[in-house]
Amino acid sequence: MTDEFDYDLIALGAGSGGLSVVERAASYGQRCAIIERGRVGGTCVNVGCVPKKIMWFGANLADMIEDAGGYGYDLTRNGFDWSRLVAKREQYIDGINSWYHGHLQKLGIDEIEGEASFVDANTLAVGARHYSARDIVIATGTRPTLPDVPGIEHAITSDGFFALQQQPARVAIAGSGYIAVELAGVLNALGSQVTMFLRKQHVLAKFDGLLQSTLLERLAQSGIELRMQCQLIAITRSESGSLDLEDNHGVGLEDVDQVIYAIGRSPELETLKLENAGVATTSRGYVETDLYQRTNQPNIFALGDITGRAPLTPVAIAAGRRLADRLYDQQSDRHLDYELVPTVVFSHPPVATIGATEEAARAEYGDRVRVYQTRFTAMYNSISGHDIPTAMKLVCLDAEEKVIGCHMIGPAVDEMLQGFAVAIRMGACKRDFDDTVAIHPTSSEELVTMRKI
Ligand code: NDP
Repeated sequence: MTDEFDYDLIALGAGSGGLSVVERAASYGQRCAIIERGRVGGTCVNVGCVPKKIMWFGANLADMIEDAGGYGYDLTRNGFDWSRLVAKREQYIDGINSWYHGHLQKLGIDEIEGEASFVDANTLAVGARHYSARDIVIATGTRPTLPDVPGIEHAITSDGFFALQQQPARVAIAGSGYIAVELAGVLNALGSQVTMFLRKQHVLAKFDGLLQSTLLERLAQSGIELRMQCQLIAITRSESGSLDLEDNHGVGLEDVDQVIYAIGRSPELETLKLENAGVATTSRGYVETDLYQRTNQPNIFALGDITGRAPLTPVAIAAGRRLADRLYDQQSDRHLDYELVPTVVFSHPPVATIGATEEAARAEYGDRVRVYQTRFTAMYNSISGHDIPTAMKLVCLDAEEKVIGCHMIGPAVDEMLQGFAVAIRMGACKRDFDDTVAIHPTSSEELVTMRKI
């Protein structure tokens, strides 16, 4: 460390991105601090991936209790205690929070609590105190967006969902992306009555059409009411305390317990005073970065959701680690490759995807594209009588049939994609898939036995 600054590196935001960069930098002997105004772990740990996955596991159990009948069990579901699951979930998260505090301490990384703002390109203010650093990484993430709809103060977002201490009996969800379909699936499986307000006629915009149509079909079959091309225009609280809704077609929905908005997220920048450091933002209000996570200021970097690119926890972690490798370990070209990022939506059933959709591939490559596709009911579901579809697609390019996209929906696809993602990143062709001996009987074997449509 030079004596000129308090630290070699300060990260703003102790979420997935900020934590990953200081951890890796500290391993290279850098003197680091991390500033956070909320709970360590950020969105993912506290109000995102982690609590969501716990609710998803809980919801899957509800499905499995029903499935058990098909396997000869005589079970009755006598009840579900939402608050008990929430208490266990929060206990688990508290454990992660405490682990992080100890972990940072062990690594010699200072935790600074509070809201930071730039004084200049090397100095941050937190309350009355100033902290200086040679390098600064902005990793403040995003927060849920709320639209300007009359009565919006009665609505909640995913943050509010995770604060619910009681299960809402009747829920309206506005939005069609990751969070909307994930929460709709969880609430529906746990017994809430769910209505989704979809602004268009699809869910998961930009995902392959096979995934969109199969998930939409499944959402409807599972008992979720889908209102398409529908937007809420008013939310009012009735005398009984429940909510009455009106949509843009003049149709209402009464006696709703919760309205959840899941229509995207906005950057957390307002309080940072970026102008004091001269950091440029994009027209959409994110911090402008290049592939090396560099901002327009030579000592200031940004990573994770705040950059507006692939807002996924593992992307932020990977970008943070690579940035530290590059800055502090002389790995001069180390940076994250933002192509071929695998991702899973924990809907019911889950969706797993990597690479080009068929639609995007055909738009770019025309008839150079070959597609292999299958749809079936997994053995487990055939016996359980819970007729959940599994659908898979491989998008291949040219005569060598390099696999440039892999799209799946169905039970267990969330655990299937990671390994295939390695192969696809290594440039696997359809022939490599075909030459791999299948594991039988599994759903994943379909990926190595697929025929052209
Ligand atoms: P998404 O970006 O996934 O989806 C939001 C969608 O809502 C838009 O695509 C749009 O779809 C629709 N929408 C936008 N404005 C309105 C509006 N005014 N009224 C109704 N619908 C609207 O956002 P989320 O909030 O679901 O999630 C944010 C991000 O967090 C995700 O993109 C993802 O990167 C990340 N995430 C990842 C998860 C995971 O890895 N499993 C889980 C949860 C979140 P359309 O144009 O079709 O109307």
